[in-house]
Amino acid sequence: MNALNLQVRIDPRSGFCPGVRKAVEKAGAALEGGEELYCLGDIVHNDEEVKRLEGKGLVFIDYDRFRELKNKTVLFRAHGEPPSSYALAAANNNRVLDASCPVVLNLQQKIGRAREAGEHILIYGKKGHPEVIGLLGHAGEGAQVANDPAEIDPASLPQAVTMFCQTTQTVEGLSRMTTFLEEAGLQIRLHDTICQCVSGRYPGLKAFAAGHEVLVFVGGQTSSNARALFDACKAANPNSYFVSRPGEVQSDWFVAGHSVGVTGSASTPLWQLKAVAEVLGEL
Ligand code: SF4
Repeated sequence: MNALNLQVRIDPRSGFCPGVRKAVEKAGAALEGGEELYCLGDIVHNDEEVKRLEGKGLVFIDYDRFRELKNKTVLFRAHGEPPSSYALAAANNNRVLDASCPVVLNLQQKIGRAREAGEHILIYGKKGHPEVIGLLGHAGEGAQVANDPAEIDPASLPQAVTMFCQTTQTVEGLSRMTTFLEEAGLQIRLHDTICQCVSGRYPGLKAFAAGHEVLVFVGGQTSSNARALFDACKAANPNSYFVSRPGEVQSDWFVAGHSVGVTGSASTPLWQLKAVAEVLGEL
């Protein structure tokens, strides 16, 4: 007998975004074909999915190991890479299986054109994030990165600035950033390059969170997109909880008969949401 008898529902709009899905599918197809495959960095900011792919034979390498790697096949993940990674792969005779998301590739090209036009580039993004490292490779020297007004001194910028966004940033954060820079008297040429798969999720996600008595959000601890989406859930429904795996679900979050919504970020696979929903159903 189900003691809590929770009414569990998985968010129909959740699961991998198209860019991450394509990267994971590319890796899966290559591994099934018996290919020895190396992935530069975590394919997705989700430890459970990384472990699953490791179990299928995918070898994750960091940039130090990549520098030493020769005559192999290397997967570039959806975050994209700077031009130097392609050059290094070619120099070491490595074949690149390029799973860079087309949205990110398009953004890299736009940044490249702004650089060629001699514009001063500011990236609204997280320093050290793999996507931002790739974008900086296209932006060239002199480009700056800031995730928050506190991270940038307007005096360090020229009068006219061309601004791009890391694809997983929030619309609210972007508005804070542009307001701050404009109030400092700067002229901002803004390219709102936040991915629609991310920004478009917020209204539906908030409604989904508010429409259940308890919300369980499944995401990787290192995913900035997961944290931002979870914060939106928490604002819409204070009874929201973040888990990375089914074992983290706690029965004292619920009372009998509660309606429970299960959702996740762009880097949370459907199988993980189903595993959490199953545990909830068994409580
Ligand atoms: S969030 Fe958007 S840009 Fe980023 S990988 Fe997914 S589809 Fe591509």
